[in-house]
Amino acid sequence: MSKPNMRADKNPMPAQDPKVRAHNFNEVATGYSEEAALDEANRCLNCKNMPCVSGCPVNVRIPSFIEKIKEGDFEGAYAVITETSSLPAVCGRVCPQETQCEQRCVRGIKGEPVGIGRLERYVADRHNENSKESPAAPEWNGHRVAVVGSGPSGLTCAGDLAKKGYKVTVFEALHTAGGVLVYGIPEFRLPKAIVAKEVDTLKALGVDIETNVIIGKTLTVDELFGAGYEAVFIGSGAGLPNFMNIPGESCNGVYSANEFLTRSNLMKAYLDDPKTPIMKGGKVAVVGGGNVAMDAARTALRLGAEKVYIVYRRSMEELPARREEVEHAMEEGIDFRLLCNPVEILGYKNENDPRDPKNGFVTGITCIKMELGEPDASGRRRPVPVKGSEFTLDVDTVVMAIGTSPNPLIKSTTEGLEVNKRGGIIVNEDGLTTRKGVYAGGDAVTGAATVISAMGAGKTAASAIDRALSGN
Ligand code: FAD
Ligand code: SF4
Ligand code: SF4
Repeated sequence: MSKPNMRADKNPMPAQDPKVRAHNFNEVATGYSEEAALDEANRCLNCKNMPCVSGCPVNVRIPSFIEKIKEGDFEGAYAVITETSSLPAVCGRVCPQETQCEQRCVRGIKGEPVGIGRLERYVADRHNENSKESPAAPEWNGHRVAVVGSGPSGLTCAGDLAKKGYKVTVFEALHTAGGVLVYGIPEFRLPKAIVAKEVDTLKALGVDIETNVIIGKTLTVDELFGAGYEAVFIGSGAGLPNFMNIPGESCNGVYSANEFLTRSNLMKAYLDDPKTPIMKGGKVAVVGGGNVAMDAARTALRLGAEKVYIVYRRSMEELPARREEVEHAMEEGIDFRLLCNPVEILGYKNENDPRDPKNGFVTGITCIKMELGEPDASGRRRPVPVKGSEFTLDVDTVVMAIGTSPNPLIKSTTEGLEVNKRGGIIVNEDGLTTRKGVYAGGDAVTGAATVISAMGAGKTAASAIDRALSGN
């Protein structure tokens, strides 16, 4: 066995030049070469106690897949990863590895951890490029299951059940399957062809995907049972945007991040002749500090904004977005206004302008400076306004990226389905809700979280549904 490579740094991820990528929607990070992947794999010490595995929400057998890479057995590595993760090309790109698997890696003690996510991406991309075969649909076991929502939780639940012979129908409110993976996370971080390939694999397994069906409106959960489905999995996400309730928020030019990103990602508002309108160019303020805020700010830049601000009420230390995304945003020229909180959105009215004579158009955002006080319930230091420190940023567009909640529609139309104070569906450890036969998982249960945790919840529910319906 060759000696491990004890270099302290990870192999860097090649990326498009910031000046170039700020004006295109192509993927920013371009991926490892085989040489870099082998070199990075050799940094892994194949630790017996596998601390990295316990940091992964679905317990991917990390040292085993990395050993396969070292042997040059890339398909073997893919097989190990997909024992537990159904979307490796997605997770290798968007998992917050720095707080999950890589955070526990022993190589991180005296240097950088092994680039586990980068290796996972390499293995998955290589598999996707080389494998043209689709899996065959197994024989039907006589049971039908309905899945509500086609995000990572729904897709994973559907895939796991389909592999066991269940006839699964996924009902999706939007016109394209993929959930946040298609409407939220932009192309420059997650190419949509990757999601489409995952959806095609499910279809090959026999999963039927019905788009433009809103459960709770087009059909109810009761009607699904009436139509012969024996179990229902709800993976409807947390797509209801929060607002600040400050003056001026109803002005034309104020968007929720979900609306802004959906128009751009899913409805292709960046085209010259788009089917959906969006404010392009001008100056843009994005309020918030999470991944969603970074995605909205970088999208605004690519849509042609001359200036983009991130307005966040805490400091860089508390900023919740992934470090890599923050660094990329900074390199691209996004202006971070930290320790600032909006108090009012300013606008002007022009009754002669047919586009919006009612609420007026955004002309600026007034913010107040903040300082950090004592820690709050989340353990982070509470931001406190500094009296008399108000200032105004001249902007034409404001994007609110301050969080989302689960939509109450399904709860309000489903007898016996209990939710918690934040609107999350209450489930037991198997993902079973308070209504018999109805399971739930992902953001619909936890509120906005991560792709990998949603996937893990879809897996847990699929195996509980299988146990309940097969009697095993
Ligand atoms: P979703 O992905 O939200 O999918 C739910 C689906 O259900 C949607 O397609 C919706 O249209 C559909 N639906 C809703 N109601 C109904 C209904 N009544 N009937 C039928 N269909 C319905 N996580 C990471 O790990 N890393 C990241 O980098 C990251 N970046 C993000 C960036 C953005 C912009 C956003 C918004 C989220 C990001 N997340 C990230 C979070 C992650 O995407 C979510 O946690 C994850 O997608 C949740 O999966 P889900 O299956 O629970 O729901
Ligand atoms: Fe790490 Fe995510 Fe892969 Fe798990 S699925 S090993 S957390 S990158
Ligand atoms: Fe390899 Fe790091 Fe996991 Fe050890 S902790 S097995 S070095 S990835």
